[in-house]
Amino acid sequence: MVGAGPAGLSCGYAAARSGARTLVLDRATHPRYKTCGGGLIGTSLAAAGARVAVPVAERVHEAVFTLAGRRRLVRRTAEPLLSMVRREEFDATLCNAAADAGAVVRTARVRAVEQDPDGVTAVLADGERVTGRFLVGADGSAGVTARHVGVRCTDVDLGLELELAAPPALRDAWRGRLLIDWGPIPGSYGWVFPKDGVLTAGVIAERGTGDQTRAYLDRFLAQAGLGALERIQDSGHLTRCRAADSPLRRGRVIVAGDAAGLLEPWTREGISYALRSGALAGEAVAAGDAARYESAVEETLGAEMAAGRRLRAAFTRRPLAFHAALATPPGWRAFAAFCRGETTFATLLRRRAYSTALRLL
Ligand SMILES: Cc1cc2nc3c(=O)[nH]c(=O)nc-3n(C[C@H](O)[C@H](O)[C@H](O)COP(=O)(O)OP(=O)(O)OC[C@H]3O[C@@H](n4cnc5c(N)ncnc54)[C@H](O)[C@@H]3O)c2cc1C
Repeated sequence: MVGAGPAGLSCGYAAARSGARTLVLDRATHPRYKTCGGGLIGTSLAAAGARVAVPVAERVHEAVFTLAGRRRLVRRTAEPLLSMVRREEFDATLCNAAADAGAVVRTARVRAVEQDPDGVTAVLADGERVTGRFLVGADGSAGVTARHVGVRCTDVDLGLELELAAPPALRDAWRGRLLIDWGPIPGSYGWVFPKDGVLTAGVIAERGTGDQTRAYLDRFLAQAGLGALERIQDSGHLTRCRAADSPLRRGRVIVAGDAAGLLEPWTREGISYALRSGALAGEAVAAGDAARYESAVEETLGAEMAAGRRLRAAFTRRPLAFHAALATPPGWRAFAAFCRGETTFATLLRRRAYSTALRLL
């Protein structure tokens, strides 16, 4: 595997548990920082919880929604909506589980991938060549493996994110509460996620609107009263959603997680996609059948992404309607059920009421 994020480590865990000799290469050594909100929907929590004790920093029971800083809407739930993790802790925990299952995890940057009918070679930065039967590319949204496979993406966004040190009074004010702001740039939104002493705040918008996105982040922080907090991290990262017919495999090389452009198109939630596609990839290569990975992904994640694309298109045109829908019992029920992992957008949009509402938008 190339990449030791949730996708590569899920793959490493599944392959090693199936008895395959498994090597996971990452240019960084865990624990390492990763630009990410660290919000786990129920689907992610269930997938990761099946193999590790998930290091949850905070569980969210209250959601505040605003529309460009206005029209505040508050929703509360008895059951947690999202579970917040610090990615450095979460990924390090997954890494230990993969190693315990028998995978070898090594720090090395992969520079290129080569393959012939008999095997695959990862060429490392120092020129060393590592050869195996299959290679799973899980090196994130701008990695070498996506280029090798020829992954094509439609929606590319820029996420800007800060980790803010929260003094005790603010820590209490934000405990168990998140904020989501539907943004002024078409398709954009901002978030504040609490993590017991740290607030992760960020915005995401279509790539190519960098100055506007930065200005949106500054305004969003000021509106949330967080503009003056100490910045522990300040970073940005691209997210990419695959085109519906983009390849997932080239010969003996398959791609998973962000490297494959597997991401929920509307919310840009990617951890559940990484965990699930990584596990499918590990099972497929351990069985010596890389082709079965493609059909498994299309059947499950493909349908979810198709629904997400429809939601994204409608949200980009009508953010106000989405905000208003959350104020209605069916709208809130649907969103909360998605967050808790009780349903998917694909399942919801198979229901006539939701599908008709979306068509009207
Ligand atoms: C601002 C922002 C906020 C987000 N918030 C959320 C959220 O709250 N919830 C959610 O579910 N999703 C969120 N996402 C998406 C989520 O972060 C990704 O979908 C997820 O990290 C994908 O996991 P992955 O394992 O595919 O890739 P990654 O987590 O990116 O891991 C890739 C790994 O590959 C390694 N690597 C890269 N290149 C090489 C190389 N050449 N050689 C060796 N190793 C290499 C990297 O060091 C890294 O460890 C967010 C994304 C962004 C940008």
